[in-house]
Amino acid sequence: MNTAIADRAMNGGRLTGLEVELGGIIDSYNRVTEKLKVSHDVLIDEVRRLTEQLEEKDRELRRRERLAALGEMAAGVAHEVRNPLGGILLYATLLERELDSQSESRRLAERIVSAGRHLDAVVSDVLAFSNPHYPQGSPVALNEMMAEVVALLQPRRVERGCSVSLDVPESLVVAVVEPAQAQRALLNVLSNAIDAAGGNGHVWITLHNDGGDGFSRVEIADDGPGVSAEHVERIFNPFFTTKDSGTGLGLAIVHGIVEAHGGRVDVARRDGGGAVFTLWLPNGENRKPKTDN
Ligand code: ADP
Repeated sequence: MNTAIADRAMNGGRLTGLEVELGGIIDSYNRVTEKLKVSHDVLIDEVRRLTEQLEEKDRELRRRERLAALGEMAAGVAHEVRNPLGGILLYATLLERELDSQSESRRLAERIVSAGRHLDAVVSDVLAFSNPHYPQGSPVALNEMMAEVVALLQPRRVERGCSVSLDVPESLVVAVVEPAQAQRALLNVLSNAIDAAGGNGHVWITLHNDGGDGFSRVEIADDGPGVSAEHVERIFNPFFTTKDSGTGLGLAIVHGIVEAHGGRVDVARRDGGGAVFTLWLPNGENRKPKTDN
């Protein structure tokens, strides 16, 4: 109520009908103003949340466009390299067979074959990254697939000297994926995590069921050095590597595979140090075909 009217009412003064009415109007006005302020604050929060979501989508879209352009270029180079490389490998293999097993020339031929095979593997990786076909998915239990991937990387884990723990829910975590491709993606992310964790480090793998968005989630975290802000934008680019013997194709392939399934992959800082890679794989409820952008 208006303070002058309220004072008079408090002091036992009589209020005219008009004053009572006016007081009521002022009260209503104050209540509406208060409600408007609350709505305004809620709206500000909502705008902030939507802006953040938009920025995230924008970042994803830019990443996709950049990777699509890089993929096209890489595929062009890979196709050009593949044929002459096939010839080099074929002739070097023939030469290797012709030469005396003890000769120095045989040693040289063997080196050419070995380097050629390495290059061939790189070319295959580039093509896998740049040409992820829309996969024919079938329902797969990620619980089993992840356990298999951990087993496959056991020798690497032992060599690096870190530990790996796998945390799966009681229920099956299902994803509708092309099994070979999904396994390749999980292998790439886990082998990077093992490399990053290194001696005495730790890798944590957690599977999560669909939280209502149509995706099952795989989180692979490590307590390695993490990914610097400077690298985070480039980490999924083909040929981006900080390793002496790396090709920089692993994560580019992961990105291509996950996107081709209509899923998503992202990297974040792990609380307590290290990196967390999260893969969202469709569980069949929300499957959308890959589009061109
Ligand atoms: P490569 O393993 O051949 O380098 P990737 O595309 O798999 O190629 O990885 C690219 C780069 O991303 C790595 O060289 C490394 O710098 C960074 N990276 C990947 N995974 C991790 C991780 N778990 N922690 C820190 N850095 C990582």
